[in-house]
Amino acid sequence: MTSTKRSRTPKSSPALVPSRIAVIGAGMAGIACARTLMQAGHEVQVFEKSRGAGGRMSTRRTEFGSFDHGTQYFTVRDPRFKKALDTSPELVKAWRANTIQVQDAAGRVVVAAKPQQHEHWVGAPGMNAIVRHWAAPAALHLETQVMHIEADRLQPQRWQLQTTGPGESTQVHAGFDAVLLALPSTQAHTLLRASRLLPQVQAQLAEVDVAPCWTLMLAFPQAVRGSAFGPHWQAARSAHHRVSWLARETSKPGRESIERWTVQASPDWSLRHLEDDAERVKAKLLRAFTEVTGIRATPPYAEVHRWRYAQTIKPLGQSHVWDASQRLGLCGDWCLGRRVEDAFVSGLELALGVHTALK
Ligand SMILES: Cc1cc2nc3c(=O)[nH]c(=O)nc-3n(C[C@H](O)[C@H](O)[C@H](O)COP(=O)(O)OP(=O)(O)OC[C@H]3O[C@@H](n4cnc5c(N)ncnc54)[C@H](O)[C@@H]3O)c2cc1C
Repeated sequence: MTSTKRSRTPKSSPALVPSRIAVIGAGMAGIACARTLMQAGHEVQVFEKSRGAGGRMSTRRTEFGSFDHGTQYFTVRDPRFKKALDTSPELVKAWRANTIQVQDAAGRVVVAAKPQQHEHWVGAPGMNAIVRHWAAPAALHLETQVMHIEADRLQPQRWQLQTTGPGESTQVHAGFDAVLLALPSTQAHTLLRASRLLPQVQAQLAEVDVAPCWTLMLAFPQAVRGSAFGPHWQAARSAHHRVSWLARETSKPGRESIERWTVQASPDWSLRHLEDDAERVKAKLLRAFTEVTGIRATPPYAEVHRWRYAQTIKPLGQSHVWDASQRLGLCGDWCLGRRVEDAFVSGLELALGVHTALK
């Protein structure tokens, strides 16, 4: 339920010593931000509308094994990201997929080798492992969607949040010195607009462009491990008109052995078919999968997932947003780019900015 009342804005108070900070969103950006603020001594509460932390670094569990149906792998170029990951090496594994490029010309599929420029890493046992581990020390409100940000009724220099969930419940969480939005840009925009906050930032957010992605997950328990089943590659970028990426889940370290594939539709195709019926999308992507891989067997498990906000096309062009007078901030991959690493750097930079401004 979204309030339409005009919010009062907390008056800025330079002498305020922050102790309580709300982070909205428990993806990589939100948890990198929360973790850094907690390490600096702040009390942080994280609000997440899903059942677990991870956001787009998610793992779908099924009776046939798990699927990384969001992030496929990540790169580690920023030394601060490397340092953070080094604290939990058991959860981060190198994925040496023989990545190749598949091209579709006049209905024919051509396969050509493509060298890997940067090392690819995955979470283990699933992609969400790292964010979940880093989120563990935080006060995490799961299945709790923030609907409105407003001035605290009892302490007007602070913020309070109206939330829904778990289930039908609604609550007010009060007494925050700062509120940080770690959401996809469109969802951040919606929340700021509903709360009538930061109109200039809303205008900036409207310029950010993010593409959707339909994702197909397939399991073939009939395939015997070690036997020749399908192509001899583990992952591919594809120029097929429907499919842009395919990966064999079993090729990732620490995964279950049943043959499983994750297939991503291209941004253009996903956009054109965004509101299509899921069964139709599944049938079309399955056909494309067969055309690219040559696998004709019927998968006993086939599901699709629609990511409305998947990968940034046009980023904000700055690492984060921090409004010191209102003590409101924003972070997310869309600030810098489209990668997990961008989300980490954005969350980290926001936390450092907030800590410096408020100490
Ligand atoms: C299909 C797909 C494939 C990808 N492949 C790769 C890849 O191979 N390599 C790579 O580096 N990156 C990849 N990415 C991008 C990568 O997943 C993102 O860059 C990164 O995970 C973004 O993290 P984030 O914290 O900014 O946002 P998110 O992970 O989206 O986190 C935002 C969180 O906010 C929550 N939320 C939203 N609204 C509310 C609300 N009102 N109240 C409470 N919670 C809310 C959401 O549930 C979510 O958990 C891929 C993404 C997708 C979807």
